[in-house]
Amino acid sequence: MRKKIIAGNWKMYKTSSESTAYFSEFIKSATKCKFLEKTVVLFPPFLSLELAASRAKGISESLSVGSQNMHQAEEGAFTGEVSAKMIKDIGAEYVLLGHSERRQYFAENDEAIANKLRSAVDASLTPVICVGEDQGQRENGRHKEVVSIQIKEGLKNLSSEEIKSVIIAYEPVWAIGTGLTASPEEAQEMHAFIRTLMGELANEDIASKVPILYGGSVKPQNAAELFSQQDIDGALVGGASLEVESFIEIINAMP
Ligand code: PEP
Repeated sequence: MRKKIIAGNWKMYKTSSESTAYFSEFIKSATKCKFLEKTVVLFPPFLSLELAASRAKGISESLSVGSQNMHQAEEGAFTGEVSAKMIKDIGAEYVLLGHSERRQYFAENDEAIANKLRSAVDASLTPVICVGEDQGQRENGRHKEVVSIQIKEGLKNLSSEEIKSVIIAYEPVWAIGTGLTASPEEAQEMHAFIRTLMGELANEDIASKVPILYGGSVKPQNAAELFSQQDIDGALVGGASLEVESFIEIINAMP
């Protein structure tokens, strides 16, 4: 059985004090949250990561934290950057790589993402690699081609065995922060396509185990329908993860 994962990407929202308040509220609401067999991961900004790592375990063993980015080098003269080892050391277990906002605003390309993925795996961080087409690419019918290149290039430094430790997040760029969501059928079609691709890159057994999350304006109102699709194993949630109540509703929508 594949892991069910609900992840929350806070982007550049919440100061440390606001993050502390979020966790205090989460503690109060924890009995309402159906963690069951699910893995829940929060991706706060770097400055809240350490406090988030220590608070998360007080809420549930199922709740972990990860960083939204990292540098690919082990260490070095890279002013302003953070390494996988530093992230791991403060108790984070996951890292988001290749988010479309990083690709779009910080010129992150598949080469850098592939190197980051290698370093994340070496540091025993679980990588969540984000892929997805933009609106023009979808309109031109290039969505599968674009996602296929992002996955093949992004995973190129990993062996088949190592691909087992990766989580994929399919996030159509046109659906991120826009209120537009891929229909459950559109999302399922892409998830099935990604799973077939994983079978070609690794093998069918590994492909059947790799969790593939959907991201793009997931809300309490649309989560259950998305989660009912065969190849959708969870969600990467942006805006709706910023409020404890809506995030818990999304967690609870996963059967
Ligand atoms: C995201 O940040 O990955 C995301 C999917 O954002 P939103 O849910 O706000 O569209």
